[in-house]
Amino acid sequence: MDRQHPLGRIGEGAHGIVFKAKHVETGETVALKKVALRRLEDGIPNQALREIKALQEIEDSQYVVKLKAVFPHGAGFVLAFEFMLSDLSEVIRHGKRPLAPAQVKAYMQMLLKGVAFCHANNIVHRDLKPANLLISSSGQLKIADFGLARVFSHKGDRLYSHQVATRWYRAPELLYGARQYDEGVDLW
Ligand code: ADP
Ligand code: MG
Repeated sequence: MDRQHPLGRIGEGAHGIVFKAKHVETGETVALKKVALRRLEDGIPNQALREIKALQEIEDSQYVVKLKAVFPHGAGFVLAFEFMLSDLSEVIRHGKRPLAPAQVKAYMQMLLKGVAFCHANNIVHRDLKPANLLISSSGQLKIADFGLARVFSHKGDRLYSHQVATRWYRAPELLYGARQYDEGVDLW
């Protein structure tokens, strides 16, 4: 952690604060996300552990944000990610005109490739929305924020929480309180 030189705050979501920082030795710019480790309830891995586990299982996709390192910090962790210029909610909000159809198609293709990659690795993201889709300086879209992600079993005997996804983006089966659902919740 002390090898990182802080450059300011870049984002704040529901579960943590994200800072921009520069690695003192390599000069590489990263995004540091602080996540608190809360008491483990009923042995269910909490947010921070889930995020680390999900990201470690799906190291290598150009459509998933790269986790570079994990440091213990206080009662939690700091996750160091590759730095991304913006996120899709910012791009939409600050754009002078609506996105061109070709741009929408390009983002959609990268998003679907990323989602297909996660699902092929049995990871269901459960919180896909513009603020969790990061955009690099070269316009590449990458899926981020695996704080609600889970490794899914297809045996059909597991029960899952329906209190996932941000309400505006929640799939109908979740709104109706389903405890058994599948990767379809990422496609709604
Ligand atoms: P939360 O779980 O709190 O929602 P996120 O991982 O979604 O945390 O991060 C919150 C915000 O921080 C994102 O919406 C984005 O604007 C910014 N952010 C997250 N990761 C990065 C990154 N690697 N590079 C640049 N900005 C990031
Ligand atoms: Mg988020």
